[in-house]
Amino acid sequence: MKTKRVVVIGGGVGGLTAGALLAREGFAVTVLEAHVYPGGCAGTFYHKGYRFDAGATVAGGFQPGGPHQIAGNLLGIQWRIERIEPAWVIHLPERTITRWSDESKWQAERAEKLPELRHFWRIQEQAAEAAWQFAARLPEYPPASLADLLRLATKIRPSLIPISPLALMSMGQLLDILGVRERNARTFIDAQLLISAQTTSRNANALYGAIAVDLPRVGVYHPHGGIGTIARQLAEALAAHGGRIIYRHAVTRIERHADKTFVLHTNKGNTFEADIVLANLTPWALAELLGDAAPPSLQREVKTRPSTWGAFTLYLGVPSAVLPTHAEHFQIVQDLDQPLGEGNSVFISISSPHDTERAPSGMRAVTLSTHTAIAPWWHLRKTDPDGYQRRVEQYRDKLLDAAERVIPNVRNAAQLVLPGTPAAFQRFTRRPLGMVGGFPFASLLTVRGPHTGVENLWLVGDSIFPGQSTAGVTAGALRVAAEVVRAAAQRRIFLPRRASAPSVAQ
Ligand SMILES: Cc1cc2nc3c(=O)[nH]c(=O)nc-3n(C[C@H](O)[C@H](O)[C@H](O)COP(=O)(O)OP(=O)(O)OC[C@H]3O[C@@H](n4cnc5c(N)ncnc54)[C@H](O)[C@@H]3O)c2cc1C
Repeated sequence: MKTKRVVVIGGGVGGLTAGALLAREGFAVTVLEAHVYPGGCAGTFYHKGYRFDAGATVAGGFQPGGPHQIAGNLLGIQWRIERIEPAWVIHLPERTITRWSDESKWQAERAEKLPELRHFWRIQEQAAEAAWQFAARLPEYPPASLADLLRLATKIRPSLIPISPLALMSMGQLLDILGVRERNARTFIDAQLLISAQTTSRNANALYGAIAVDLPRVGVYHPHGGIGTIARQLAEALAAHGGRIIYRHAVTRIERHADKTFVLHTNKGNTFEADIVLANLTPWALAELLGDAAPPSLQREVKTRPSTWGAFTLYLGVPSAVLPTHAEHFQIVQDLDQPLGEGNSVFISISSPHDTERAPSGMRAVTLSTHTAIAPWWHLRKTDPDGYQRRVEQYRDKLLDAAERVIPNVRNAAQLVLPGTPAAFQRFTRRPLGMVGGFPFASLLTVRGPHTGVENLWLVGDSIFPGQSTAGVTAGALRVAAEVVRAAAQRRIFLPRRASAPSVAQ
């Protein structure tokens, strides 16, 4: 039987994980990546002697049963990571809370600093524990067929029953039931939900939220050389399993033939034929590439879906001597009365002092980011270039103000200050309008799966459940790879060259 050709559009963590898993299963995999390095929003770029993490900075999901650990075992990857402690430090206006991974330190910290949440943690930890175990069984969620539903049913265990009510309520409702009204406690939860569930407790689903705030407990890791090392190791694994990644090749059009195969056109004027396409893209980007061939469901989706968040980032080169040494990641909330994001909540990550590849001698690379609505940026960019520039400066100042809380005198100390707007994210990750981070998790009943309405064309990446983060997109990629293998085995796509065990489809 002929080896089936898979083309993956985009070498983000989701695309590379799925591509490498399929290469390992014997498919002929080509990843087409527009940029000169892999990783997309979780990439690390070179600038003036620094290696800055472009977006993602905190790596989770490497614990036993975590998505990166499962994918790494299947692919034979020894992740170049080290666990960091504490996971991060949260600065509210009048309270500073350290999120220790160490259980006893964390219990002491939360008892002292967040007594209002004492009943919350028991429920959150029980829910997260059961949900992580469920996730490790690689559930077909959301199910797209009766067969998916039956497979999903076999993965449900009694430990999920007591926590099932959380699937139907918001985190805000859970906090209300527990009588948590205190603003510091609510903001503490909201700030963490915003970065991991893309929405705050009022909207975030309680079960998803329980996992989202659990990251420090299960462990946060530092990849050597920056977050982009995850994608680079995946690209190496892809090659080791017989696949290839071609850089500087942006797919500009997907053409579908009557025999259900595809031809992908690139900006270099090349074409690539495929039996299966995995699009490591947002639905908007996929619809653009399909043009008139986009199925009606996808066309409806991109017209009706609200836009997602954008990010404003600052990349700083700062002398080691002025940087804090007690943690690498910080989250700052400036004002409890203002909504989070838009410079009022800022995440700050400092490259590890042991990671000498990341900055010139004596310096460190620092990434700051805040959630921002994309519309005002694009409006100003079109209508008022001076106003746009002023907005960049205003956001730069807000982020530097926040950074002063952990890096005193950062404005004078920083030897390099490079801003990143939604326009920069659009340019460097090709995500339309710079929409990043996937969809908010308000309801588990309406999450998006990998199906596109086009046979043998799947989405991977943070637009599909379980959404954003390198760990989230890896979980989604494990599911998609398993589905492709099953479809091939059922000869819906034809059989691949060889089947190796243990299979991702198990
Ligand atoms: C500011 C910020 C902070 C974040 N912080 C964290 C964090 O701390 N921890 C965490 O785990 N996650 C974090 N995230 C989220 C995380 O980075 C993403 O959810 C994840 O990396 C998305 O992966 P993806 O597989 O969807 O691909 P993407 O990262 O979107 O990558 C897609 C790739 O496809 C390529 N591409 C796009 N179009 C084409 C085309 N037409 N042809 C060829 N190639 C194409 C792009 O160049 C890119 O390399 C953060 C994100 C942002 C923006």
